[in-house]
Amino acid sequence: MIQFDTEVIDVIRRTHNVKSFRFKRTKEADFKAGQFFFVTIEVNGEERTKHFSFSSSPTESKYIEFTKKITGSDYSKALDMIKVGDWARIKMPKGSFTFDGEYERIAFLSGGIGITPIRSICRYVIDRKIGTDMVLLYGNRSEEDIVFKADFDRMQDEYPGLKVVHVLCEEPLNCQAKKGFINKDIIEDAVMDYEKRQFYVCGPPKMVEAMNGILKDQLSLTEDTIITENFTGY
Ligand SMILES: Cc1cc2nc3c(=O)[nH]c(=O)nc-3n(C[C@H](O)[C@H](O)[C@H](O)COP(=O)(O)OP(=O)(O)OC[C@H]3O[C@@H](n4cnc5c(N)ncnc54)[C@H](O)[C@@H]3O)c2cc1C
Repeated sequence: MIQFDTEVIDVIRRTHNVKSFRFKRTKEADFKAGQFFFVTIEVNGEERTKHFSFSSSPTESKYIEFTKKITGSDYSKALDMIKVGDWARIKMPKGSFTFDGEYERIAFLSGGIGITPIRSICRYVIDRKIGTDMVLLYGNRSEEDIVFKADFDRMQDEYPGLKVVHVLCEEPLNCQAKKGFINKDIIEDAVMDYEKRQFYVCGPPKMVEAMNGILKDQLSLTEDTIITENFTGY
């Protein structure tokens, strides 16, 4: 792992409660799509560290980015106030929720902010022209909670090998979506060849547990066909 001091070069609002933060990327700052890193910022005069997945892809060479749900915590409040030029320390990379062309067909199950490493992987596959067939089932409460909506729309237009299925608890207004929670029927319907795919599951622990249950107990998939990342803290 490497560690370096850096500064914020951009802050991007993604939804009503999600923001992305970008830092200048040096040549040494190498990572795999889907990994995470440690971010130290100043919170009420003290240094505080939390870890976040890269929402940017290794192919996006000018910056590294993480994307955080802004909660009521002191760390979140400090992040919400952060501006271009502010200091941060980064330690990176870590994690094994990665993809570098190992499988021909993959499926992602994601909920809420758990989309961040998946956005990194999808962008990477497209930019590197790896050719992987990818299906993403992305669960959110409502349309306004979908993170990277426009980004995934663009990626689908760009790359026919990516299919995105939104699953919303509330009635969709403008976008095509399935209603409810990601469940066995929705997976069978959207990922008909699910037995032939490697699954990547990422989200808050309760969501990951529920998805694991469906994949293993209801669809009889084995442990080795499922890779998970738990966003502890939510
Ligand atoms: C491998 C990995 C990757 C991760 N990647 C990401 C990522 O890409 N994006 C991301 O957003 N998170 C990610 N996380 C989770 C992240 O590390 C934090 O745990 C998470 O962001 C919660 O931090 P927090 O400061 O918002 O809340 P914490 O301080 O951890 O508090 C937990 C909860 O309590 C509530 N809370 C805390 N203090 C207050 C308060 N004073 N008033 C009201 N409510 C309060 C908050 O709502 C919060 O949801 C990742 C975790 C792991 C393990």
